[in-house]
Amino acid sequence: MLDAVVVGAGPNGLTAAVELARRGFSVALFEARDTVGGGARTEELTLPGFHHDPCSAAHPLGINSPAFRALPLERYGLEWLNADLPMAHPFLDGSAAVLSRSVAETAASFGPRDAGTYRRLVAPFLPKWDTLARDFMSLPLTALPRDPVTLARFGLVGLPPSSRLIRRFRDERARTLFAGLVGHVMAPLSGFATSAVGLVFALAAHARGWPVARGGSQSISDALAAYLEDLGGSIHTDYEVKRLDDLPPARAYVFDTSPTALGRIAGFGNYYEGYRYGPGVFKIDYALDGPVPWTAKEARAAGTVQIGADSAEIGTALRAVSREGRAPDRPFMITVQPSVVDPTRAPAGKHVFWAYGHVPSGWTGDLTDAMERQLERFAPGFRDRVIARATAGPAELAARNANYVGGDIASGAVSGLQILLRPKLTPFPYATPHPAVFICSSATPPGPGVHGMSGHNAAKAVWRRLRQQG
Ligand SMILES: Cc1cc2nc3c(=O)[nH]c(=O)nc-3n(C[C@H](O)[C@H](O)[C@H](O)COP(=O)(O)OP(=O)(O)OC[C@H]3O[C@@H](n4cnc5c(N)ncnc54)[C@H](O)[C@@H]3O)c2cc1C
Repeated sequence: MLDAVVVGAGPNGLTAAVELARRGFSVALFEARDTVGGGARTEELTLPGFHHDPCSAAHPLGINSPAFRALPLERYGLEWLNADLPMAHPFLDGSAAVLSRSVAETAASFGPRDAGTYRRLVAPFLPKWDTLARDFMSLPLTALPRDPVTLARFGLVGLPPSSRLIRRFRDERARTLFAGLVGHVMAPLSGFATSAVGLVFALAAHARGWPVARGGSQSISDALAAYLEDLGGSIHTDYEVKRLDDLPPARAYVFDTSPTALGRIAGFGNYYEGYRYGPGVFKIDYALDGPVPWTAKEARAAGTVQIGADSAEIGTALRAVSREGRAPDRPFMITVQPSVVDPTRAPAGKHVFWAYGHVPSGWTGDLTDAMERQLERFAPGFRDRVIARATAGPAELAARNANYVGGDIASGAVSGLQILLRPKLTPFPYATPHPAVFICSSATPPGPGVHGMSGHNAAKAVWRRLRQQG
């Protein structure tokens, strides 16, 4: 009998398996697709020699993850590559606000009236970032906070809606950049705890940047998988689990799946009925015959570039999707340009470019034209650089990965209390009605992103249970 069986080889499933294996437990991992990776993978989606990330590309949460930082992933080939600027937010006048590694450079890009406000906002947290990140990402109750005072202070700033945080700034530049940061999790700006989202992304940029992984996001997953196998764990791909009976006997089962799928597989009836899924995304991977011709020079030097003319335009786009159930005319977009720092991603002189915009759950339209019109406003001539494109709307995303229900890349709405307490209102989110079954996907705290912390936290709950059993 195995100690633990993990279902799903996304970053959380892989991390949970590694954490258990390195504590001496016997582990087997089962994955539906023919390769490991889930939302952290790389494929030649367009043309030979162009290595695209169909899902995650920028990794502020990965490089800052307490779980990843404790693992020897560099030994297994993971190398983080930071562009000169973690992120730029260009404006129609050809200038840009930036998130730089330097607080001073970031503050200066917001203009004189907001520079001091920004410095005062991040100053209490930045020196304590590593402890804060660990405390915040281990909530609700997997560990006692190491610095409860800083965590409480962070709560006071982070728990109110981001619309309130954004009002601290007097000019549009900082407001727009922050509205964009909140847009990364598809939450409305008026949502509970959305200030924390913006703040975490900003602090992560100052602490370690927003890198890409050399060779593509697949190298994060491959490093975790290689380490797992070195620890004696086994990996079985092309193995979709439909019932608990499909799995070998084990003392614990850990699911890196959506709560809905787990409920079906384990026969939990309506246990997860109240769990809500959020909007979807429309993703485009481009092969380009040169770099993106951004008007703003800062955007040319950035790993990630947010697209939205001002905070009102971003708010309108997010509202259209989450409240009005329609695709926006001018989508808010997140774009990443990995080949600016990683020449291995495309043939010499060519580039890969990654972009997505938000659409309603299950939306079946084509957002390509709206996204490219939006890009042309900030990078005139963009379309002329396109050699090939691969598009994926909600249906394609969900078909490739069952966790992205209706195209929701966060595996569950990041809004209301569900932003912190997911998949149920309980202090034990990784436990389920069955004492031997656990859930570790991004439907559990700390939520979406490639950071492995849900897997790490769930593994902790599992090894405590296994040790109690002796
Ligand atoms: C387009 C897109 C862009 C993104 N951009 C970023 C980004 O830039 N930065 C970032 O940090 N995050 C990003 N994300 C989010 C990130 O990819 C996810 O939050 C993360 O991968 C979640 O990890 P996970 O392990 O919980 O689940 P997943 O990575 O989704 O992995 C789940 C795995 O379980 C497998 N599985 C599911 N059901 C079964 C079953 N029944 N049997 C066997 N296997 C099963 C799936 O095939 C999959 O491999 C993006 C996601 C998408 C789709």
